[in-house]
Amino acid sequence: MSGAALKDPRNSNVHSASDERIKDSTRALYQAEPLLWEKEQCDHSGTDWKIPDSYKCRTGLKERAEIGLPQVSEPEVMRHFVRLSTWNYSIDSGFFPLGSCTMKHNPRLNEKLARLPGFAHIHPLQPEETVQGALELMYELQSWIAELTGLPGVCLTPAAGAHGELAGMMTIKRAHVLNRETQRKYVLVPDSAHGTNPATAVMCGYETRIIDTKETGRVSVEAFKEALYKTDETGADIAGMMVTNPNTCGLFERDIQELSKLLHKAGGYFYCDGANFNALVGKIRPSDFGVDVMHLNLHKTFSTPHGGGGPGSGPICVTEELLPYVPRPLVIKEGDSYRLEGDTERETSLGRLKGFQGQFGMHVRALSYMMSHGKDGLRKVSEDAVLHANYILSQLKDDYHVPFEGPCMHECLLTDKRQKDGEVTTMDIAKTLVENGMHPMTVYFPLVVSGAMLIEPTETESKENIDRFITVMKQIAEDTKAGDTDKFHNFPVSAPRRRLDEVKAARQPKLKWTDDKATGNH
Ligand SMILES: *Cc1c(COP(=O)(O)O)cnc(C)c1O
Repeated sequence: MSGAALKDPRNSNVHSASDERIKDSTRALYQAEPLLWEKEQCDHSGTDWKIPDSYKCRTGLKERAEIGLPQVSEPEVMRHFVRLSTWNYSIDSGFFPLGSCTMKHNPRLNEKLARLPGFAHIHPLQPEETVQGALELMYELQSWIAELTGLPGVCLTPAAGAHGELAGMMTIKRAHVLNRETQRKYVLVPDSAHGTNPATAVMCGYETRIIDTKETGRVSVEAFKEALYKTDETGADIAGMMVTNPNTCGLFERDIQELSKLLHKAGGYFYCDGANFNALVGKIRPSDFGVDVMHLNLHKTFSTPHGGGGPGSGPICVTEELLPYVPRPLVIKEGDSYRLEGDTERETSLGRLKGFQGQFGMHVRALSYMMSHGKDGLRKVSEDAVLHANYILSQLKDDYHVPFEGPCMHECLLTDKRQKDGEVTTMDIAKTLVENGMHPMTVYFPLVVSGAMLIEPTETESKENIDRFITVMKQIAEDTKAGDTDKFHNFPVSAPRRRLDEVKAARQPKLKWTDDKATGNH
């Protein structure tokens, strides 16, 4: 693999000897970067020379040292943060096939529109008559979302996918409570669900009932009925189900209409986790397969920046029946003018979940994306997203184990089953991708598939990049077959950091720097 033979300049201890520091930190223009606190010299500041022992300090440096502020100059601070910023990997730096995350390109047109002074410089406390354009934009976005999903009640305020789930499940709960259906205490969730689904149900005070999907990767009618009627033969204790379609295995739930019919007959509501809407947008409307409530991730399907690039935005959309219960404020059109709902209007509403009106900057970007693509363009988005994932699947299916038969939707699922015999695991494969300059796919998720690798290339990736990814993946499979596997356990060797103790990092996170240079315990 390329890069494998390089001596890694980044892992040597560049801070211990000053000669070494100069040599290594400039190597290949790579700037190794310690913490600011590690860089500082305690007895001088900025660009000053070291203070002679006999000199009495007039500048208060001693006092500053005592409260632990790093003593570095402005240029040093600038370099510190600029160097750190070069360590970020983003969709703008390379291939980012993180499954279930839709890391697509963020069109710069959206950025340009969001920076228009009339959008960028307004304040949420301005009188409504001075922000009519912004309110009209939000109203327009509500209408586009309603059209694309077939769900007419749109609330834009949730600030992330998980926040949308909370808003959606609270809407369902509010409906049940106001309809005196408080005996409904279970929410059905497939075992492959994103962790936020059961977590949300529990936060809303429900118990989850898990539907087993291990055999086929999909929810079967039999397994569903078993869960639905488990403790009541009419399902009268079921509040609803939370399902994502396509699901987290990248598969379309073929029986979804049958499932939603059974659920509705029992009086439950269908919450669809819409994070995977990129596979459907412009092609089918979720309301047509029985969805009652759904959140959309504007930062996934509708290309607004995420993963450190911008705040999320997770609007929800609901049926006419559930509209009375959604959070405030909706954007209302009266004649030719627009306004936000007041805090005492619509008494059936569950209330407010977010300050002001939600992530307005993301609303601008998402509507810009929708309008610049149009009806045919959005359809092409999902078609290309599905095509790209199936291209990868078709190229790698002879090299990697494919747990579930048939074509996939916008992401494909492979496992390390064939490579594990050669002791090369999903983690090794992910780290080899890092060594080759690519962000890994989603690993070990969904949890129900051992050694899962969930790959979502998205429609914005070029064939050349997808082919490069396929070449690396094929090379890994080939080398593993040939028994040439030792290197895989050491990758990455050229990254700023090598293998971290991920379990320890998760269990015992060190969130605070302690000045304990003697023990090396920073
Ligand atoms: C991303 C995602 C979510 C959560 O969205 P956030 O914006 O990260 O809170 C929920 N479900 C699925 C399937 C997802 O992929």
